[in-house]
Amino acid sequence: MKLSQVRWQTYKDNPADAEIPSHQLMLRAGLIHKAGAGIYNLLPFGLKVVKKIEQIIREEHDKAGCLEVLMSVITPGELWQESGRWQAMGGEMVKMKDKGGRDLCISPTNEEAVTDIFRRLIKSYKDLPITYYQINTKFRDEIRPRFGLMRGREFIMKDAYSFHESKSCLEKTYFQLYNVYSSILNRIGTEFKVVEADAGAMASSDQKTHEFQLLAKTGEDLLVYNEGYAANIEKAKTKRVINDFKFNGGEVEKVSTPDVGKIEEVCKLLGVKPHETLKTLALMGVKGNQVRPVLVVLLGDDELNETKIKNLLNADHVLPATEGELESLKCVRGFIGPFGHPQEMHTIFDAAIDLDAFYIVGANQKDFHLKNFSPKRDTHNFEVADLRRTKDGDIALSNNLPVQITRGIEVGHIFQLGDKYTKAMGVTVLDKTGKAVVPLMGCYGIGVTRLAAAVIEQNHDEKGIIWPESIAPFKVHAVLIGRSDEFRMKAFKIYEQIRERGIEILIDDRDVGPGFKFKDADLLGCPWQLTLGEREFGETGKFKLTNRKTAQIIEASPENLITEIERAINR
Ligand code: ATP
Ligand code: MG
Repeated sequence: MKLSQVRWQTYKDNPADAEIPSHQLMLRAGLIHKAGAGIYNLLPFGLKVVKKIEQIIREEHDKAGCLEVLMSVITPGELWQESGRWQAMGGEMVKMKDKGGRDLCISPTNEEAVTDIFRRLIKSYKDLPITYYQINTKFRDEIRPRFGLMRGREFIMKDAYSFHESKSCLEKTYFQLYNVYSSILNRIGTEFKVVEADAGAMASSDQKTHEFQLLAKTGEDLLVYNEGYAANIEKAKTKRVINDFKFNGGEVEKVSTPDVGKIEEVCKLLGVKPHETLKTLALMGVKGNQVRPVLVVLLGDDELNETKIKNLLNADHVLPATEGELESLKCVRGFIGPFGHPQEMHTIFDAAIDLDAFYIVGANQKDFHLKNFSPKRDTHNFEVADLRRTKDGDIALSNNLPVQITRGIEVGHIFQLGDKYTKAMGVTVLDKTGKAVVPLMGCYGIGVTRLAAAVIEQNHDEKGIIWPESIAPFKVHAVLIGRSDEFRMKAFKIYEQIRERGIEILIDDRDVGPGFKFKDADLLGCPWQLTLGEREFGETGKFKLTNRKTAQIIEASPENLITEIERAINR
């Protein structure tokens, strides 16, 4: 491609609303344009990258025997009524009516649509297992779209759905797709971890599910891992190591702690360690239009894992109690405690708390705490559950080894769904004995556009993007220096020769200075830069191929140039 023929616009400065490198660089390198909040246009070079990712995904799915389909982006409301998700999807799903008054939505995901395809085509166990996939546009009206393509409202997803007669068959396909995902991310050249995940609203929380996480400082997810264990922090099962509790104490005793609401201040004032205090959170579990209060008690230096409390309460969401709610619960902000509540108050102690030890707790009275509170002795009615957030240095329950925490970007997520959708939509197939049985499902998603952004988070420097060869918009970015017509003709001849070999090459033949051109080449980040200057064409001249990532320089004589390029790009 000749750059003079592309209306390519790059920018020197970071756009004001772009906070992370991938968002900044995609805008600066002219890969995308913002069309609206969380909505982007892919420009020619950005689209090239996305198409390459799609191609790798397609090849790996085809290799595993998955069948590509393209489902409609707009789906009829009736399908969602059947599964019960027309209401349950909440505000993320954009709904509309056509002129005949029929309900429609823009697909945020496609379990219903694919189940409808399945039930119309498949009647017998003999046709199972079967896996359909598509690469298509999704729309989710995210509460906080941000970071460009990373969390858009409209985005491209690869979604696959498998159908099975038995749990063991589902399990087999699940791990086959697990391997497909690993191959895709390896072929692209990413650094990733596969972690145990929380099923969220997709399936019941005891079904198997894994996330594929690209490691990056800017990742929104926290990953807990050690040799032999990896989980999203939402799901992580660990225990803490510091447990030197205080076991000698008398009766509950009120102490004055004027203006001291924070745990650190309480510890300083009373001369105790943070884990000798308990922190009590007054929360409201919301399910449909029901709201129920709950007190969650944690060790003073622990934090709440919001996913775990949400799952435990089976709530749509869990919110902190408002001032009014606190008042009706007889709690005072900063001094909330688990002592003295009526019997019916739902109280949950975190599993890290020793129920026989003695702690400082809030007195439910402004400027007072209680000493010598002992959970088992001093609470009528309580539950114990693992609700604390994993911390560095915890020990994984599965292998008793210390864990570390790092950040990741979720680019893929695979689930065993079970019969949730097939059952709700009344789907059956005939088994070997001629009996109608409800098939089981798995579903598997990759955020294609998010993956493009995530790769940049892993591969960039202060000058710009550094694409891995697998998905770079071009393999070679030729920089033409020199203005004479004769020279330009020679350079174009070389460009044509390279192109004829099937090597993707961009030539910067714009009427601007070399400094500007090299800056743009670094910003766009193609793996090899080829300098085509008048000097290189001289008697003793050699061509220079520079690697964008390593700055390695390969020199080649005119006769060897193509061979050297082919060797450089591993062909
Ligand atoms: P997240 O937890 O990041 O909101 P999710 O759990 O809602 O994602 P899934 O329903 O599992 O996502 O969708 C499959 C994949 O689609 C995700 O792994 C992610 O890569 C991608 N994806 C989801 N939401 C977005 C979005 N708003 N923008 C871009 N990609 C997305
Ligand atoms: Mg997910």
